[in-house]
Amino acid sequence: MTPYAPLRRAALVAALVFSGMVLAVAAMAPSPEAEATLLRRSVVEPVALGVTASVLPAPALYVREERFQRGDTLAGLLSRLGVTAEDTRRLIRMPALRMLRPGHVVTAEVDADGDALRLSYLAARDTQMVVERAADGFNARQLAAPLHTQTVLREGVIQSSLFAATDAAGVPDSVAIQIADIFAGDVDFHRDLRRGDRFAVVYEQHFLAGRAVHSGRVLAAEFVSQGRALRAVHYERARGGSGYYAPDGSNLRKAFLRSPLEYTRISSGFGMRRHPFQRSWRAHTGVDYAAPTGTRIRAAGDGRVEFAGFKGGYGNAVILRHRGQYSTLYGHLSRVAPGMRRGTRVAQGDIVGYVGSTGWATGPHLHYEFQVAGRARNPYAIAMPAGEPVPAAELPAFRRRAEPLVARLELLAAPPLARLE
Ligand SMILES: [Zn+2]
Repeated sequence: MTPYAPLRRAALVAALVFSGMVLAVAAMAPSPEAEATLLRRSVVEPVALGVTASVLPAPALYVREERFQRGDTLAGLLSRLGVTAEDTRRLIRMPALRMLRPGHVVTAEVDADGDALRLSYLAARDTQMVVERAADGFNARQLAAPLHTQTVLREGVIQSSLFAATDAAGVPDSVAIQIADIFAGDVDFHRDLRRGDRFAVVYEQHFLAGRAVHSGRVLAAEFVSQGRALRAVHYERARGGSGYYAPDGSNLRKAFLRSPLEYTRISSGFGMRRHPFQRSWRAHTGVDYAAPTGTRIRAAGDGRVEFAGFKGGYGNAVILRHRGQYSTLYGHLSRVAPGMRRGTRVAQGDIVGYVGSTGWATGPHLHYEFQVAGRARNPYAIAMPAGEPVPAAELPAFRRRAEPLVARLELLAAPPLARLE
């Protein structure tokens, strides 16, 4: 018997228990094809989280990175890094950490209990501040050595969330977030992930005295979502500007994000949960994302604010009008982002508001509606390209750049699925 057999059984039971929801989910799909997709989606979903997450062994060590921001506190930063309150009390007294300034990126090695083992940041070029756990507290030292950059290759298999997989592969959060952003036009990392989906990534890692300091840019990435492989290569255009392109030169940027909810370590754990309301809301015409209050909501596409304020059952809501006949609605917000008023121009990814439970909602979640000519449509059926492809004149240069990176992805892509069985 494979170790996952009990999980599969549990999943089947979960699917049966959740089948009551299937009807409600189907009600939001206007076309039969979309309905079939959504039916399959909702049956599969309970498998992906909850059941597996609690059973899988947690990695012994997490490597996390956080940028110290303007107005940040040391305690706030340590909390984001997952450090326990007890360690935080001791660490905030360390002069080595009190020297943190906005822009510094802190790398923390934290064990499964939240005990900080090592914190470091680049205090100046070629100078690293290191705080390490010792028998009687923490020791600080300064490390001076030349900074150099290496290319790191990593791959992983999704068991519950992208972050769980990147943790297991030793990939820092900043790289996980870059992966989610690169494929944001094609993959909804809150809802589309399935156990067995895979990622491969090639990224820059800065080293000092043989140790990783912080990670840089993703150079190339692959994401295999439900059997569909997506690849991206970073390319700087001759006339300035840069972006992520498929190996054929097409732009990965789409007119609409798959998920308007910002993908963070915290929101990633809520993706597969559904709020109970959906079962009774017969005329439900949107997609619900359960997420903690305050989670940031992004404009799905470029456009203008058509409405921002309180709107009956939707609570605090924002409606954006996009080019063509498209509009998007974001409901139940705890608050609308500052500056959002009728006529305001927004670019894709701009923050329009924050998750809440205002209006007709039993718990904090985002209600997201996608409309075409005033009629609700399935947002998953829309994937219009937005970005320009690599200019034809630059294709030879692009291919020279892309080929070795794609070769590395292929090296990593040797299917690790056998390990699951
Ligand atoms: Zn809803």
